[in-house]
Amino acid sequence: MNAPFSRDFWHARAAELLARGIDGRMWIDGRREDAADGQCFDCISPLDGRVLTRVARGQAADIDRAVASARAAFVDRRWAGKSPAARKKVLQDFAAAMRAAREELALLETLDMGKPIQHSLSADVPGAARCIQWYGEAVDKVYDEIAPTADSALALVTREPAGVVGAIVPWNYPMLMAAWKLGPALAAGNSVVLKPSEKSPLTALRMAELALEAGLPPGVLNVVPGYGYEAGEALALHLDVDVIGFTGSTRTGRRMLECAGRSNLKRVYNELGGKSANIVFADFDDLDGAAATAAGSMFYNQGESCNAPSRLLLQEDIADAFLEKLLAQVPQYAPGDPLDPQTQLGALVDATQTQTVLGYIASGLAEGAQCLVGGTRVLEHTGGQFVAPTVFDKVHNRMKIAQEEIFGPVLAVLRFRTEEEAIAIANDSTYGLHAAVWTRNLDRAVRVSRALHAGTVHVNQYDEDDITVPFGGVKQSGNGRDKSLHAFDKYTELKTTWMRIAPR
Ligand code: NAD
Repeated sequence: MNAPFSRDFWHARAAELLARGIDGRMWIDGRREDAADGQCFDCISPLDGRVLTRVARGQAADIDRAVASARAAFVDRRWAGKSPAARKKVLQDFAAAMRAAREELALLETLDMGKPIQHSLSADVPGAARCIQWYGEAVDKVYDEIAPTADSALALVTREPAGVVGAIVPWNYPMLMAAWKLGPALAAGNSVVLKPSEKSPLTALRMAELALEAGLPPGVLNVVPGYGYEAGEALALHLDVDVIGFTGSTRTGRRMLECAGRSNLKRVYNELGGKSANIVFADFDDLDGAAATAAGSMFYNQGESCNAPSRLLLQEDIADAFLEKLLAQVPQYAPGDPLDPQTQLGALVDATQTQTVLGYIASGLAEGAQCLVGGTRVLEHTGGQFVAPTVFDKVHNRMKIAQEEIFGPVLAVLRFRTEEEAIAIANDSTYGLHAAVWTRNLDRAVRVSRALHAGTVHVNQYDEDDITVPFGGVKQSGNGRDKSLHAFDKYTELKTTWMRIAPR
């Protein structure tokens, strides 16, 4: 008998799951379906390179089927026509079903994309379930408006579901990113076609089954796995999709806008990449705390987080002392078996991502940055994708490792002298997702927060996060906001109804 949630426990559960077989077929109209042409692709685990299952390779014909199913569900109002309270109940039950299946979902997530099981279990599953529940609970508390017009008329300003939502999500937080789209889109009464990343399709497919069991009518949620240039592009180009909720790279976000322009001008909301600046001023008195957060936030999820604080800006006077404290943090992020609950840093998503990260490390060295720790692939004998946490000092902001999103455990350290210089470096980026400032000087905290071009600014912390707070970026980090009540703006249309009021 294995101790609950021990390494042996998870390995035994993984073996059981694989022996049972993982269903990689699409989810259309409330049932499993093969791709129309029967094609599949291998779903490979980054833990050891084994094939977890074969996944249906959705293409344009499959997207057509899924969109037709979603449209039919929307038109007959089997979901949109339910009262907000009835939709709330189903979404609460969906969230409860996810919690009940938390071990299976956590295991699928970790096997599929490499993050530590402890994080899948304690952050990703509960976070995704809370998101679904929160939007369910919110939707019967949102009121519409009556405009302050003259007595001769009544103008109702109502929110209506947009229709069919295409949700295209990445692999770094597969369940959470799906939930950030599904929560508000479903709560508002839309039908959804979800296209998970080809690198991490398993939990999205399982979530769809759980949603049906919880009472979501067939057709309201369809999941079509497949490659971006096939299934993703077909969804983005589809003439019967009203909104695209996209999370992914800036390159693909650009493509989403092109596809909308080439098709039906559907609304596109892009949540894209980042290169967030984490600025520590010399007056900050808890350098130990700041260093622990700088490392923890950077190396969480193997550095594969859009909002990772991947540029650390240190004021000259404290830079050396801070780096010493930072480097003392690094050993606890030594890569390890993702199924071991002690592991803090797991596997990168796949071999391509490993090569990308190693390529950036080589570029940092070639451009003259100094690698203080890491810089190599490790645990190669496992067949898994592991890269050691890496810290570069002496980085200049024009270097590639300071400008481009690496999406791996690689931190770039830059030094500055004055507040103006710190702001200029932080804003010298095509991205604008997150930023942080560490200072005990209140005036400086406010001045710098105001000056930073970012969707979110943290002061003296980096980890706060809540479903009640909007998440998104400016510049090439995207537009629109996930999370909070503001996310309803993306999946609803405002309708004005003018009524003439005749005088007596
Ligand atoms: P990606 O852009 O390669 O892929 C994202 C999704 O788009 C996948 O489902 C993919 O199959 C699909 N896709 C790819 N090409 C497509 C095309 N031509 N047409 C339609 N769909 C296409 O991104 P990724 O590598 O999966 O994810 C990492 C990126 O996501 C990073 O840049 C990260 O910063 C970003 N991200 C942003 C946020 C945020 O909230 N801002 C959150 C998580 C991740």
